[in-house]
Amino acid sequence: MKGMLVIISGPSGSGKGTVVKRLDPVRNYALSISVTTRSPRDGERDGRDYFFRTPEQFKHMRENNQLLEHAVYCNHYYGTPRNYVKEQINSGKAVVLEIEVNGALQVRDKFEEAVLIFLLPPTLAELHSRLVRRNTEDAYRIEDRIKRAHEEIKLINKYDYLVINDRVADAVERINTIVEAESLKPFRNRDAILHFKG
Ligand code: 5GP
Repeated sequence: MKGMLVIISGPSGSGKGTVVKRLDPVRNYALSISVTTRSPRDGERDGRDYFFRTPEQFKHMRENNQLLEHAVYCNHYYGTPRNYVKEQINSGKAVVLEIEVNGALQVRDKFEEAVLIFLLPPTLAELHSRLVRRNTEDAYRIEDRIKRAHEEIKLINKYDYLVINDRVADAVERINTIVEAESLKPFRNRDAILHFKG
């Protein structure tokens, strides 16, 4: 079976990171690690959460075509390293990109068969209180992220699926189900069809 690109977007505070880390480990997932120019938060590690790079290093990667997509988000650059994604797709994995909407749409332009999932908390008020509780941004940055959330939500109809993250376990289950169903689409199973024909 061929691999699959699974993109998970959603406003900051929608719980993407938590949900992605809990995707069923027995399934064939590979989590892409992005490059960013923002500083690490407490507890974040280079090479595990992100590849933390200077703007110059980021520019170098972009100019050398090492990024599958890239975008600016709240004054910082973010991008997906191309090679890892390519390798994992070729080995049949469902590669998960947790990225914002502009990057997601760049990927969709290049790979029509990518699966785009939008994750939302149940309400805007809940989004706000999650950002406050998380305590990783000051009040000004939280407002910036909320503004950005309004922009991102306008593009929701470009996505294939909407998952409400009311309970993490339920959101994870829904995403596992989407990926399972997507993997059964005939166009992703040409080899099985050829095998049947003998
Ligand atoms: P944070 O700073 O909260 O880790 O991430 C900010 C936003 O950037 C989130 O919406 C996250 O999904 C997005 N993001 C993380 N990595 C990438 C990437 O490689 N490409 C793009 N386009 N967005 C990313």
